[in-house]
Amino acid sequence: MSIKYFDHAATTAVDEKVLEEMLPFFRENYGNPSSLYSIGKSNKEIINIYRMKIANILGCKVNEIYFTSCGTESDNMILKGIAFANKNKGNHIITSQIEHPAILNTCKFLENFGFKVTYLKPKSNGIIDIEELEKNINKNTILISIMYANNEIGTIEPINKIGEIAKKYGIYFHTDAVQAIGNIKVNVKQEKIDALSMSAHKFYGPKGMGVAYISEKVPFMRIQDGGHQEKDKRSGTENVAGIVGIGKALELADSNIESYNKKLIQLRDFYISEVRKKIPYIRINGDLEKRLSGNANISFSGVDGGKLIKELDKKEICASSGSACSAGLLNPSHVLLSIGVSQNLAKSALRISFGKENNIEEVKFLIEALEEIIPKLRKSY
Ligand SMILES: *Cc1c(COP(=O)(O)O)cnc(C)c1O
Repeated sequence: MSIKYFDHAATTAVDEKVLEEMLPFFRENYGNPSSLYSIGKSNKEIINIYRMKIANILGCKVNEIYFTSCGTESDNMILKGIAFANKNKGNHIITSQIEHPAILNTCKFLENFGFKVTYLKPKSNGIIDIEELEKNINKNTILISIMYANNEIGTIEPINKIGEIAKKYGIYFHTDAVQAIGNIKVNVKQEKIDALSMSAHKFYGPKGMGVAYISEKVPFMRIQDGGHQEKDKRSGTENVAGIVGIGKALELADSNIESYNKKLIQLRDFYISEVRKKIPYIRINGDLEKRLSGNANISFSGVDGGKLIKELDKKEICASSGSACSAGLLNPSHVLLSIGVSQNLAKSALRISFGKENNIEEVKFLIEALEEIIPKLRKSY
Protein backbone atom coordinates (compact mmCIF):
# COMPACT_ATOMS: atom_id res chain seq x y z
CA MET A 1 0.00 0.00 0.00
CA SER A 2 1.29 3.46 -0.76
CA ILE A 3 0.43 6.76 0.86
CA LYS A 4 -2.62 8.54 -0.48
CA TYR A 5 -1.92 12.20 -0.13
CA PHE A 6 -4.94 14.53 -0.08
CA ASP A 7 -3.39 17.53 1.66
CA HIS A 8 -2.01 19.68 -1.15
CA ALA A 9 -3.29 22.85 0.50
CA ALA A 10 -0.81 22.13 3.33
CA THR A 11 2.13 21.42 1.08
CA THR A 12 3.11 19.56 -2.09
CA ALA A 13 6.02 17.34 -3.11
CA VAL A 14 8.71 19.04 -5.19
CA ASP A 15 8.24 18.22 -8.87
CA GLU A 16 11.10 16.13 -10.30
CA LYS A 17 11.71 18.69 -13.04
CA VAL A 18 11.93 21.46 -10.44
CA LEU A 19 14.38 19.45 -8.35
CA GLU A 20 16.53 18.68 -11.44
CA GLU A 21 16.75 22.36 -12.27
CA MET A 22 17.67 23.27 -8.68
CA LEU A 23 20.39 20.66 -8.08
CA PRO A 24 23.31 22.34 -9.92
CA PHE A 25 22.90 25.35 -7.62
CA PHE A 26 23.58 23.18 -4.57
CA ARG A 27 26.51 21.44 -6.25
CA GLU A 28 28.83 23.22 -8.68
CA ASN A 29 27.07 26.61 -8.98
CA TYR A 30 27.09 27.49 -5.30
CA GLY A 31 28.68 30.94 -5.62
CA ASN A 32 27.40 33.98 -3.74
CA PRO A 33 25.65 36.25 -6.27
CA SER A 34 27.35 39.29 -4.71
CA SER A 35 30.86 37.91 -5.35
CA LEU A 36 32.94 39.32 -8.20
CA TYR A 37 34.36 36.05 -9.62
CA SER A 38 32.46 34.15 -12.24
CA ILE A 39 30.79 31.35 -10.22
CA GLY A 40 29.29 34.08 -8.04
CA LYS A 41 28.50 36.70 -10.65
CA SER A 42 26.87 34.18 -12.98
CA ASN A 43 24.30 33.49 -10.27
CA LYS A 44 23.28 37.15 -10.33
CA GLU A 45 22.29 36.64 -13.95
CA ILE A 46 20.48 33.41 -13.07
CA ILE A 47 18.44 35.29 -10.47
CA ASN A 48 17.50 37.93 -13.03
CA ILE A 49 16.40 35.33 -15.55
CA TYR A 50 14.07 33.70 -13.03
CA ARG A 51 12.84 37.04 -11.73
CA MET A 52 11.90 37.90 -15.31
CA LYS A 53 10.04 34.60 -15.82
CA ILE A 54 7.97 35.24 -12.68
CA ALA A 55 7.27 38.88 -13.60
CA ASN A 56 6.08 37.81 -17.07
CA ILE A 57 3.68 35.23 -15.66
CA LEU A 58 2.27 37.62 -13.02
CA GLY A 59 2.05 40.50 -15.52
CA CYS A 60 4.26 42.94 -13.63
CA LYS A 61 7.68 44.56 -14.00
CA VAL A 62 10.89 42.72 -13.17
CA ASN A 63 11.80 45.24 -10.47
CA GLU A 64 8.51 44.56 -8.68
CA ILE A 65 9.45 41.00 -7.70
CA TYR A 66 11.18 40.36 -4.35
CA PHE A 67 12.38 36.94 -3.22
CA THR A 68 11.58 35.93 0.36
CA SER A 69 11.83 32.82 2.54
CA CYS A 70 8.11 31.87 2.51
CA GLY A 71 4.54 33.01 2.12
CA THR A 72 4.49 34.07 5.75
CA GLU A 73 7.48 36.35 5.24
CA SER A 74 5.92 37.88 2.12
CA ASP A 75 2.74 38.63 4.07
CA ASN A 76 4.72 40.20 6.94
CA MET A 77 7.00 42.22 4.71
CA ILE A 78 4.16 43.60 2.62
CA LEU A 79 1.71 44.47 5.40
CA LYS A 80 4.29 45.96 7.75
CA GLY A 81 6.25 47.57 4.90
CA ILE A 82 3.22 49.32 3.42
CA ALA A 83 1.65 50.21 6.78
CA PHE A 84 4.78 51.86 8.22
CA ALA A 85 5.67 53.66 4.99
CA ASN A 86 2.19 55.18 4.69
CA LYS A 87 1.46 55.99 8.31
CA ASN A 88 1.46 59.71 7.51
CA LYS A 89 -1.56 59.16 5.21
CA GLY A 90 -3.63 57.12 7.63
CA ASN A 91 -3.66 54.24 10.07
CA HIS A 92 -6.61 52.09 8.97
CA ILE A 93 -6.32 48.64 7.39
CA ILE A 94 -9.14 46.41 6.13
CA THR A 95 -8.76 42.64 6.03
CA SER A 96 -11.04 39.65 6.64
CA GLN A 97 -11.70 37.24 9.48
CA ILE A 98 -10.83 34.24 7.31
CA GLU A 99 -7.25 35.19 6.46
CA HIS A 100 -4.30 32.91 7.16
CA PRO A 101 -2.59 33.46 10.55
CA ALA A 102 0.30 35.07 8.65
CA ILE A 103 -2.05 37.97 7.90
CA LEU A 104 -4.18 37.93 11.06
CA ASN A 105 -1.21 37.93 13.43
CA THR A 106 0.64 40.55 11.41
CA CYS A 107 -2.44 42.75 11.71
CA LYS A 108 -2.48 42.16 15.47
CA PHE A 109 1.17 43.22 15.59
CA LEU A 110 0.32 46.41 13.70
CA GLU A 111 -2.51 47.16 16.15
CA ASN A 112 0.19 47.47 18.83
CA PHE A 113 1.79 50.23 16.75
CA GLY A 114 -1.25 52.44 16.44
CA PHE A 115 -2.95 50.90 13.42
CA LYS A 116 -6.69 50.23 13.42
CA VAL A 117 -7.75 47.04 11.67
CA THR A 118 -11.23 46.09 10.43
CA TYR A 119 -11.72 42.32 10.11
CA LEU A 120 -14.57 41.81 7.65
CA LYS A 121 -16.91 38.90 8.27
CA PRO A 122 -17.60 37.07 5.00
CA LYS A 123 -21.02 35.89 3.90
CA SER A 124 -22.00 32.35 4.92
CA ASN A 125 -20.58 31.02 1.63
CA GLY A 126 -17.15 32.38 2.57
CA ILE A 127 -17.19 35.26 0.09
CA ILE A 128 -16.48 38.86 1.11
CA ASP A 129 -19.43 41.24 0.73
CA ILE A 130 -18.22 44.02 -1.57
CA GLU A 131 -20.75 46.56 -0.27
CA GLU A 132 -19.71 45.80 3.29
CA LEU A 133 -16.08 46.34 2.27
CA GLU A 134 -16.88 49.70 0.70
CA LYS A 135 -18.89 50.81 3.74
CA ASN A 136 -15.90 50.21 5.99
CA ILE A 137 -13.55 52.47 4.05
CA ASN A 138 -12.79 55.77 5.78
CA LYS A 139 -10.44 58.68 5.19
CA ASN A 140 -7.70 56.92 7.15
CA THR A 141 -7.82 53.67 5.19
CA ILE A 142 -4.44 53.02 3.57
CA LEU A 143 -4.48 49.30 2.84
CA ILE A 144 -6.90 46.48 1.99
CA SER A 145 -5.59 42.91 2.35
CA ILE A 146 -7.95 40.16 1.22
CA MET A 147 -6.80 36.66 0.33
CA TYR A 148 -7.22 35.44 -3.25
CA ALA A 149 -8.38 31.97 -2.22
CA ASN A 150 -8.94 30.50 1.22
CA ASN A 151 -6.67 27.71 2.43
CA GLU A 152 -9.37 25.88 4.40
CA ILE A 153 -12.59 26.13 2.43
CA GLY A 154 -11.07 26.94 -0.98
CA THR A 155 -13.36 29.88 -1.69
CA ILE A 156 -12.17 32.41 -4.28
CA GLU A 157 -12.69 36.08 -3.42
CA PRO A 158 -13.89 38.74 -5.92
CA ILE A 159 -10.38 40.11 -6.41
CA ASN A 160 -11.22 42.17 -9.52
CA LYS A 161 -13.98 44.04 -7.72
CA ILE A 162 -11.88 44.62 -4.61
CA GLY A 163 -9.09 45.95 -6.83
CA GLU A 164 -11.51 48.38 -8.48
CA ILE A 165 -12.81 49.68 -5.18
CA ALA A 166 -9.30 50.10 -3.80
CA LYS A 167 -8.34 52.10 -6.91
CA LYS A 168 -11.47 54.26 -6.65
CA TYR A 169 -10.48 55.38 -3.15
CA GLY A 170 -6.72 55.47 -3.71
CA ILE A 171 -6.09 52.63 -1.24
CA TYR A 172 -3.35 50.04 -1.71
CA PHE A 173 -4.56 46.48 -2.31
CA HIS A 174 -2.65 43.40 -1.21
CA THR A 175 -3.76 39.81 -1.74
CA ASP A 176 -2.39 36.69 -0.08
CA ALA A 177 -2.41 34.53 -3.20
CA VAL A 178 -0.55 31.59 -1.66
CA GLN A 179 -3.43 29.19 -2.40
CA ALA A 180 -4.29 30.72 -5.76
CA ILE A 181 -0.93 30.74 -7.53
CA GLY A 182 -0.50 27.49 -9.42
CA ASN A 183 -4.27 26.95 -9.51
CA ILE A 184 -5.53 30.19 -11.03
CA LYS A 185 -3.99 32.44 -13.69
CA VAL A 186 -3.34 35.72 -11.91
CA ASN A 187 -2.48 38.98 -13.69
CA VAL A 188 -1.70 41.66 -11.14
CA LYS A 189 -2.05 44.64 -13.47
CA GLN A 190 -5.39 43.56 -14.95
CA GLU A 191 -6.71 42.76 -11.50
CA LYS A 192 -5.42 46.04 -10.01
CA ILE A 193 -3.39 44.26 -7.35
CA ASP A 194 -0.67 46.42 -5.76
CA ALA A 195 0.99 43.67 -3.75
CA LEU A 196 0.78 39.89 -3.68
CA SER A 197 2.25 36.99 -1.66
CA MET A 198 3.04 33.53 -2.96
CA SER A 199 4.84 30.43 -1.71
CA ALA A 200 6.64 27.78 -3.77
CA HIS A 201 5.77 24.73 -1.69
CA LYS A 202 2.05 25.10 -2.42
CA PHE A 203 2.63 24.48 -6.15
CA TYR A 204 5.26 21.71 -6.31
CA GLY A 205 8.23 23.97 -5.54
CA PRO A 206 10.58 23.86 -2.54
CA LYS A 207 9.64 24.80 1.02
CA GLY A 208 11.25 27.95 2.38
CA MET A 209 10.83 29.98 -0.80
CA GLY A 210 8.40 32.81 -1.41
CA VAL A 211 7.86 35.82 -3.62
CA ALA A 212 6.47 39.23 -2.75
CA TYR A 213 5.21 41.29 -5.68
CA ILE A 214 5.09 44.96 -4.72
CA SER A 215 4.10 47.56 -7.31
CA GLU A 216 6.78 50.22 -7.81
CA LYS A 217 4.06 52.82 -7.17
CA VAL A 218 3.59 51.71 -3.57
CA PRO A 219 5.67 53.48 -0.90
CA PHE A 220 7.22 50.64 1.01
CA MET A 221 9.56 50.43 4.01
CA ARG A 222 11.95 47.51 4.43
CA ILE A 223 11.66 45.48 7.60
CA GLN A 224 14.93 43.56 7.21
CA ASP A 225 18.25 45.41 7.24
CA GLY A 226 21.55 44.04 6.09
CA GLY A 227 23.76 43.74 3.02
CA HIS A 228 21.41 45.58 0.61
CA GLN A 229 20.24 42.60 -1.49
CA GLU A 230 16.89 42.84 -3.33
CA LYS A 231 17.33 46.59 -3.93
CA ASP A 232 17.90 47.01 -0.20
CA LYS A 233 14.29 46.01 0.45
CA ARG A 234 15.03 42.50 1.73
CA SER A 235 18.62 41.80 2.73
CA GLY A 236 20.15 38.33 2.98
CA THR A 237 22.25 36.21 0.63
CA GLU A 238 19.94 35.08 -2.15
CA ASN A 239 18.64 31.49 -2.09
CA VAL A 240 19.70 30.81 -5.68
CA ALA A 241 18.50 27.20 -5.77
CA GLY A 242 15.19 28.28 -4.23
CA ILE A 243 14.79 31.10 -6.73
CA VAL A 244 15.38 28.65 -9.57
CA GLY A 245 12.89 26.30 -7.89
CA ILE A 246 10.07 28.79 -7.49
CA GLY A 247 10.57 30.09 -11.04
CA LYS A 248 10.54 26.64 -12.58
CA ALA A 249 7.57 25.52 -10.47
CA LEU A 250 5.58 28.59 -11.50
CA GLU A 251 6.49 28.10 -15.15
CA LEU A 252 5.31 24.46 -15.04
CA ALA A 253 2.12 25.35 -13.18
CA ASP A 254 1.33 28.15 -15.60
CA SER A 255 1.77 26.03 -18.71
CA ASN A 256 -0.36 23.14 -17.35
CA ILE A 257 -3.02 25.15 -15.56
CA GLU A 258 -6.00 24.13 -17.72
CA SER A 259 -5.43 20.38 -17.72
CA TYR A 260 -4.52 20.54 -14.03
CA ASN A 261 -7.80 22.20 -13.10
CA LYS A 262 -9.78 19.82 -15.29
CA LYS A 263 -8.24 16.86 -13.51
CA LEU A 264 -8.79 18.27 -10.04
CA ILE A 265 -12.42 19.16 -10.75
CA GLN A 266 -13.07 15.59 -11.90
CA LEU A 267 -11.60 14.14 -8.71
CA ARG A 268 -13.27 16.65 -6.40
CA ASP A 269 -16.72 16.43 -7.98
CA PHE A 270 -16.57 12.63 -7.88
CA TYR A 271 -15.55 12.78 -4.20
CA ILE A 272 -18.33 15.20 -3.24
CA SER A 273 -21.05 13.33 -5.12
CA GLU A 274 -19.98 9.98 -3.63
CA VAL A 275 -19.90 11.41 -0.09
CA ARG A 276 -23.35 12.89 -0.64
CA LYS A 277 -24.64 9.54 -1.87
CA LYS A 278 -23.05 7.37 0.78
CA ILE A 279 -22.78 9.34 4.01
CA PRO A 280 -25.74 11.14 5.63
CA TYR A 281 -25.64 14.24 7.87
CA ILE A 282 -22.90 16.20 6.17
CA ARG A 283 -22.35 19.88 5.43
CA ILE A 284 -20.24 21.14 2.56
CA ASN A 285 -18.40 24.27 3.69
CA GLY A 286 -17.78 27.22 1.37
CA ASP A 287 -19.31 28.32 -1.92
CA LEU A 288 -19.80 25.44 -4.35
CA GLU A 289 -18.96 27.43 -7.49
CA LYS A 290 -16.40 30.04 -6.49
CA ARG A 291 -13.84 27.63 -5.10
CA LEU A 292 -10.47 26.10 -5.91
CA SER A 293 -10.71 23.06 -8.17
CA GLY A 294 -8.94 20.79 -5.72
CA ASN A 295 -10.69 21.73 -2.45
CA ALA A 296 -13.50 19.92 -0.66
CA ASN A 297 -14.23 20.86 2.96
CA ILE A 298 -16.99 18.73 4.47
CA SER A 299 -18.27 18.51 8.05
CA PHE A 300 -19.42 15.05 9.17
CA SER A 301 -21.89 15.73 11.94
CA GLY A 302 -21.11 13.89 15.21
CA VAL A 303 -17.53 13.08 14.25
CA ASP A 304 -14.39 14.40 15.97
CA GLY A 305 -12.15 15.77 13.22
CA GLY A 306 -8.93 14.96 15.06
CA LYS A 307 -9.93 11.32 15.53
CA LEU A 308 -11.01 11.11 11.91
CA ILE A 309 -7.56 12.25 10.75
CA LYS A 310 -5.92 9.61 12.97
CA GLU A 311 -8.16 6.83 11.63
CA LEU A 312 -7.45 7.89 8.05
CA ASP A 313 -3.73 7.94 8.86
CA LYS A 314 -3.93 4.26 9.90
CA LYS A 315 -4.96 3.60 6.31
CA GLU A 316 -2.10 5.78 5.03
CA ILE A 317 -4.48 8.52 3.96
CA CYS A 318 -3.25 12.08 4.56
CA ALA A 319 -5.88 14.78 5.02
CA SER A 320 -6.45 17.77 7.25
CA SER A 321 -9.06 18.75 9.80
CA GLY A 322 -8.58 22.52 9.90
CA SER A 323 -5.75 24.45 8.33
CA ALA A 324 -2.40 22.72 8.78
CA CYS A 325 -1.08 25.65 10.79
CA SER A 326 -3.69 25.20 13.50
CA ALA A 327 -4.10 21.43 13.18
CA GLY A 328 -1.99 20.84 16.30
CA LEU A 329 -4.51 22.80 18.37
CA LEU A 330 -7.92 21.55 19.40
CA ASN A 331 -9.64 24.85 18.64
CA PRO A 332 -12.26 24.76 15.89
CA SER A 333 -11.25 26.56 12.70
CA HIS A 334 -11.59 30.37 12.83
CA VAL A 335 -12.61 30.25 9.18
CA LEU A 336 -15.53 27.87 9.73
CA LEU A 337 -16.71 29.78 12.81
CA SER A 338 -16.54 33.03 10.85
CA ILE A 339 -18.86 31.74 8.13
CA GLY A 340 -21.39 30.66 10.76
CA VAL A 341 -20.61 26.95 11.12
CA SER A 342 -21.44 25.74 14.66
CA GLN A 343 -18.63 24.77 17.07
CA ASN A 344 -19.52 21.09 16.77
CA LEU A 345 -19.71 21.06 12.99
CA ALA A 346 -16.49 23.07 12.79
CA LYS A 347 -14.76 20.39 14.87
CA SER A 348 -16.06 17.69 12.52
CA ALA A 349 -14.63 19.16 9.32
CA LEU A 350 -12.42 17.26 6.91
CA ARG A 351 -10.43 19.20 4.33
CA ILE A 352 -9.46 17.19 1.28
CA SER A 353 -7.20 18.98 -1.21
CA PHE A 354 -6.40 17.09 -4.38
CA GLY A 355 -3.23 17.35 -6.43
CA LYS A 356 -1.58 16.15 -9.56
CA GLU A 357 -0.52 12.68 -8.38
CA ASN A 358 -4.05 11.68 -7.25
CA ASN A 359 -6.31 9.42 -9.32
CA ILE A 360 -9.88 8.10 -9.20
CA GLU A 361 -8.77 4.80 -7.62
CA GLU A 362 -7.35 6.71 -4.67
CA VAL A 363 -10.57 8.69 -4.29
CA LYS A 364 -12.56 5.44 -4.24
CA PHE A 365 -10.23 4.15 -1.52
CA LEU A 366 -10.84 7.34 0.45
CA ILE A 367 -14.63 7.01 0.12
CA GLU A 368 -14.52 3.38 1.29
CA ALA A 369 -12.40 4.41 4.27
CA LEU A 370 -14.88 7.14 5.21
CA GLU A 371 -17.82 4.77 4.86
CA GLU A 372 -16.13 2.50 7.37
CA ILE A 373 -14.73 5.11 9.81
CA ILE A 374 -17.53 7.69 10.02
CA PRO A 375 -20.27 5.40 11.46
CA LYS A 376 -17.76 3.98 13.98
CA LEU A 377 -16.76 7.45 15.19
CA ARG A 378 -20.37 8.58 15.33
CA LYS A 379 -21.22 5.68 17.64
CA SER A 380 -18.40 6.61 20.04
CA TYR A 381 -19.08 10.35 20.02
C1 LIG B 1 0.46 28.22 3.33
C2 LIG B 1 -0.12 29.57 3.38
C3 LIG B 1 0.62 30.66 3.87
C4 LIG B 1 1.99 30.50 4.46
O1 LIG B 1 2.96 30.15 3.50
P1 LIG B 1 4.35 29.52 4.03
O2 LIG B 1 5.22 29.52 2.82
O3 LIG B 1 4.02 28.15 4.49
O4 LIG B 1 4.85 30.40 5.10
C5 LIG B 1 0.04 31.91 3.85
N1 LIG B 1 -1.21 32.09 3.37
C6 LIG B 1 -1.94 31.08 2.89
C7 LIG B 1 -3.30 31.35 2.35
C8 LIG B 1 -1.42 29.79 2.89
O5 LIG B 1 -2.17 28.78 2.42
